[in-house]
Amino acid sequence: MTDIRKIAFIGAGNMTQSIVGGMVSSGYPAEQIFVSNPSSAKLEKMQSTLSVNTSQDNAEIAQQADVIVLAVKPQLMKDVCAALQASVDNLSEKLIITIAAGIRMPKYRQYLNDDIRIIRVMPNTPSLVSKGMSGLVADERVDDADKAYITEVFDGVGETLWVSDEDQLDILGAVAGSGPAYFFEFMAGLQKAAVSLGFDTAKAREMVQQTCLGAAEMAKASELELAELRAQVTSKGGSTAKGVEAYQNADLDGISETAVKAAVKRNQEMA
Ligand code: NAP
Repeated sequence: MTDIRKIAFIGAGNMTQSIVGGMVSSGYPAEQIFVSNPSSAKLEKMQSTLSVNTSQDNAEIAQQADVIVLAVKPQLMKDVCAALQASVDNLSEKLIITIAAGIRMPKYRQYLNDDIRIIRVMPNTPSLVSKGMSGLVADERVDDADKAYITEVFDGVGETLWVSDEDQLDILGAVAGSGPAYFFEFMAGLQKAAVSLGFDTAKAREMVQQTCLGAAEMAKASELELAELRAQVTSKGGSTAKGVEAYQNADLDGISETAVKAAVKRNQEMA
């Protein structure tokens, strides 16, 4: 990484541990990374494995940082921000990053300060294995250098995609944020089908997960449309064609659209 700033993570949960792990392995200097958490066990682990600075005092690390990453559960956000607002000077000079789902930028301005520079990031669970898909949206006060900086941070746990507004982030959340759950659901169905036909569970799972991984890698490596890729592995009148026909008859496309719309609606309700 080229742009090194003092960065403070508020909350040392799963997501922070992954992001900070990605930063340190990309060469970000650990002495510029600060992490706070109320309980000490996660901090001790991060200190011993990643050599970052730790504290049980959010304000202490936020005060000295250029960038503050709010990484607590959404229901705690209001209180955590109120405490920072009351004790940290010059919040408007710091870049604020939030990874919490469902809380929109005006709320952060209300909780923290009207003049903050804020970026919302929506990572997804595969970030935990460095295969994340993070969506990002910035307030108009955020400049290109801030955007480039935070893109590099989240590239450490996968890929990043900037969207134009918070409505788009809701859609990204409904596809990429919730998507792993849809895929697990689909994979569980394939696994059950194999088991019902006599496969043992372990072998069925191995077969399903490697097939999904292989299909995703193929899709990523190819410039073909997904429908063309599908056609390439579907000989007319063959067994795959019969299976695909069953999915099409059950309107898999329609099911996916209904699922995504339902998740977008829920994201909007929670905002
Ligand atoms: P998590 O593992 O539960 O981490 C949250 C951390 O916040 C915990 O370590 C908790 O500490 C700490 N915490 C609680 N109260 C605090 C306080 N007052 N000050 C500072 N830290 C405090 O959750 P996560 O999965 O990392 O998620 C963090 C945020 O990312 C959430 O807002 C979530 O919506 C968002 N997010 C997560 C994912 C995902 O895939 N995990 C995806 C997208 C967005 P204790 O455990 O010691 O109480």
